[in-house]
Amino acid sequence: MKILKQAGFVIFLIGLSIFTGTLFTGNFNLTSSELASFVTEKGYKNELILDELTKAVVTTEELTIFEFSNRVRKAYKTSNDHYDVLIASFDADKNWDKKGEQYQYKIYGKPHTLSFELAKIAGKGPAKEHAGILWLLTFGLGITGALLFILPNFVLLGKAGIKNNGIYLEASTNRGFIAWLVLVYLVSFYLVLYFMPDYVVNWTYILDPISKTLNGGLASQWFVYGFLYCIIMLVMASRMYIKYRHNKYQLIRTTSVLFFQIVFAFLIPEIMTSLNMPGYDFKNAFPLDYDFFFDWNLDSLRNSGGIGIFILVWGIVLTLIIVPVMVYFFGKRWYCSWVCGCGGLAETLGDPYRQHSDKSLNSWKLERWLIHFVLLFSLVMTLVTLYTYFTGTDSFLGINSQWIKDTYSFLIGSWFAGVIGTGFYPIFGNRVWCRFGCPLAAYLGFVQRFKSRFRITTNGGQCISCGNCSTYCEQGIDVRAYAQKGENIVRSSCVGCGICSAVCPRGVLKLENGPENGRINPTDILLGNDVDLMELINNK
Ligand code: SF4
Ligand code: SF4
Repeated sequence: MKILKQAGFVIFLIGLSIFTGTLFTGNFNLTSSELASFVTEKGYKNELILDELTKAVVTTEELTIFEFSNRVRKAYKTSNDHYDVLIASFDADKNWDKKGEQYQYKIYGKPHTLSFELAKIAGKGPAKEHAGILWLLTFGLGITGALLFILPNFVLLGKAGIKNNGIYLEASTNRGFIAWLVLVYLVSFYLVLYFMPDYVVNWTYILDPISKTLNGGLASQWFVYGFLYCIIMLVMASRMYIKYRHNKYQLIRTTSVLFFQIVFAFLIPEIMTSLNMPGYDFKNAFPLDYDFFFDWNLDSLRNSGGIGIFILVWGIVLTLIIVPVMVYFFGKRWYCSWVCGCGGLAETLGDPYRQHSDKSLNSWKLERWLIHFVLLFSLVMTLVTLYTYFTGTDSFLGINSQWIKDTYSFLIGSWFAGVIGTGFYPIFGNRVWCRFGCPLAAYLGFVQRFKSRFRITTNGGQCISCGNCSTYCEQGIDVRAYAQKGENIVRSSCVGCGICSAVCPRGVLKLENGPENGRINPTDILLGNDVDLMELINNK
């Protein structure tokens, strides 16, 4: 079994190396007719860009994706610079008509995204021409290797029951060099995916056949991300099923996050796109879905007929009614640990790192400031966006709508949620985003803290102060401190993952939904005579 495990690890590494190496394969150039039809299709009105792109990439040279990207970005820049100079000179001449005319010739868009669109047509090489074989060598080997590494645990770990033995002695789970290597890989992955999509065009070729089957179009970098996300969750879920196989709550919860990720977040939006509908993740609630009220989304929904209006109404009802009502009955766990995609990844890929959450009071303070700041930021951004959308102005209260949207998308959407939130799993733990950044979690937290039937009850008399619960609480809650005092845990940050209860050797902790009356709250002093326990029990 151990040999099988080691073989699995080697096979996984081979798959990962080929997957990464694929980025550097292939060559890129265009014929003039390919370029001409691209420019016509895009509806570019200026002649200069055709000339510039022709000089740059219509060639017999076999360019790498990096050279190709470099040349394409320069071509767009030269073209835009040219019109900027014209705009400035007409402005100086006070020739407003001519100045206004020039704007139609400028080409807007992120340079690497513009380059991605061309690279998608221009590529030649193994990833494009042998997508099936490359899929087997990358995804196929990766999945097989990972499963061979994980499945033997069923036998190797012995009887059912959580085995965290040696977790602080492994370089991978105790912030050792393996953890840092994983961090570097994950962070690089997110940086390239978010900010340099043309560099991952070879990955999109591998998934083109699957994308065509699902939505009729070619794969984008987001399709690659969505597909990879589902595969990683599926593989790592097998680890959860083995590790927590004695625990019904964990088994059902893992199945639930898998279902919502694969069906709601991935398949349904893809199928909707193939039917010419706006691809929408019906479980992704605002303000986590921060661009729901962006002008382009509102326009797209309004122009999509009945389904667009339904999505618009659903999105509002989900945030204003369904989310708080469900939190009242079940706590925020119904979303964060059973439905959400970010939570889903954290609870599968991130499970080996849950012990890294910081339990200090300072980080609790930071958590409260940061998460509520992000909530406020998202609300202000949405207010400005909606005001400018309905009034046709550019700004509100002196805040430029485009600026605040771009800033939020860059800082929170890309850096916080992606690069830091997931990239730093191996060092900061698996719920950095959910604990410190997610505006939806902040909103759910308010409801959970002040008006919810959910709490974790503690049978304090049984607690042996081993600290397992605090160690494995991914939200950094010092569960033991509550258990020692016999207090109910009613914390806005608790995502109800249930691991504290699962790892407790004494059965002290129980996740419950029940009436708010009769709780033992932090304000009650249980060791004195201030609380009459019999009265509390009778009041239940
Ligand atoms: S207190 Fe328990 S249920 Fe809540 S987040 Fe921490 S480990 Fe999960
Ligand atoms: S895991 Fe159980 S016994 Fe150990 S400190 Fe927590 S509540 Fe007490």
